[in-house]
Amino acid sequence: MQHFPIFLAVAGRRIVVAGGGETALAKLRLLLKTEAHVTVIAAEPGADVLRLATEGRIRLLPRAMEPGDALCAALFYAAHDDAAEDRRTAGLAHADGALVNIVDNLAESQFITPAIVDRDPVTIAIGTEGAAPVLARKIKADLEERLPASLGLLARIGKSFRHVAESLPMGRKRRDFWADYYFKTGPEALEAKGKEGVTPALHQLLDAHLASDAKEGHVDLVGAGPGDPDLVTLKARKALDAADVVIYDRLVTPAILELARREAIMIDAGKEGFGSAMAQDDINTLIVEHARTGAQVVRLKSGDPTVFGRLDEEIEAILAAGISYRIIPGITAASAAVASIGQSLTRRHRNASVRYLTGHDTKGFAEHDWKALARPGEVAAIYMGKKTARFIQGRLLMHGADPATPVTVVENVSRPDQRILATTLAQLEPTLTEARLTGPALTFYGLAPRQAETLCSPELAPLFQPTEGHAT
Ligand code: SAH
Repeated sequence: MQHFPIFLAVAGRRIVVAGGGETALAKLRLLLKTEAHVTVIAAEPGADVLRLATEGRIRLLPRAMEPGDALCAALFYAAHDDAAEDRRTAGLAHADGALVNIVDNLAESQFITPAIVDRDPVTIAIGTEGAAPVLARKIKADLEERLPASLGLLARIGKSFRHVAESLPMGRKRRDFWADYYFKTGPEALEAKGKEGVTPALHQLLDAHLASDAKEGHVDLVGAGPGDPDLVTLKARKALDAADVVIYDRLVTPAILELARREAIMIDAGKEGFGSAMAQDDINTLIVEHARTGAQVVRLKSGDPTVFGRLDEEIEAILAAGISYRIIPGITAASAAVASIGQSLTRRHRNASVRYLTGHDTKGFAEHDWKALARPGEVAAIYMGKKTARFIQGRLLMHGADPATPVTVVENVSRPDQRILATTLAQLEPTLTEARLTGPALTFYGLAPRQAETLCSPELAPLFQPTEGHAT
């Protein structure tokens, strides 16, 4: 981060803008939202600037800038559309001790102005360090759409009620009260009775919260998906946003952990294949202990929590402790992986069922109905299959599977470093070992990437768009 975002107190302070044309005007539109005293210095001010001066909204110095004009100014903008004059005035302002911005000159500016979403007092500043103004504008447009215009009003009323709400104990209880206000009671009161209805609704809500008993603990067993934060469900996001404690697995990516509420306690219960970093019993105890303190616990598992996630053991521990729980499904690795190879898990006349297999279980290599799997057209998604590839290959060949059966391994599904290896059952090993995979991998038995299939059919090949980070 080359620029550190802050909110500067400018009420009653001076801000000086040098320049009187369109560029200066664009900055003035933003600056006049603040309570700062704005001075414009322009030898030839445009009509709009003159109007602002007549209306008393700015102080206008109708001449070229001189030393001392920016004395005591918090901020200075050089906005002339004339590089030489910008540089000269910026130098003067600098000598006067102001923080200097030269419009559209990132390198010589001491600060930059972000794109702003204004729901005063809620203000969102978006910056890209000059790298992608288009992106900042798009994010701004999205937020403008998403944030109701009433947000500012609710926040202003809420702010004046803060000292009253201090009668609630700090922490969870007070947070619940405010969440209830901003997302339910506040908007409802505003809609039903207008602005006047909001403060009475706040008093009622406070009484209700003061009267309610201490909140009970709860556990959400949440699927984090395969790694891409865009593949996390809205429900999972909401649970993460409300969490007091997040207990997460090794395969959950940092980008997803970022979605957790900032104050949440983050606990790494990372587990490696074949053996574990934290024993399952210890994880169960951890979940229960935290929930017993009244916390909202999120047990965050990669993919879908119901697929090879040892979910039942955790649920049993939670139930035995008399704690409530909820399962929030996620996108399992097989679903994301099959999408990345442009294929479908089931297909008419090919396979009417698909199996999710684990390469190993707690006892070591996992046995399956190899004979059934060896039949033509079968499809299986093999989890935890890296170290067990040779074993699975041997078992399937021994039971008569066609050595030419396609096998596809997708490493780091949905992540920027995703890799796809297309091979056959006969070649699975040594292909897999030679590829030296380092990330989690999902192996498809009986499926090839559609791209590979269509190579001999050039009119179809361009239709398949491989996902990002795809390297075959
Ligand atoms: N509950 C998880 C699976 C946990 S078992 C799910 O539904 O996806 C762990 C195995 O899942 C890994 O060994 C690997 O085979 C697979 N896996 C999980 N995330 C993956 C990813 N991003 N890319 C490839 N495989 C993944």
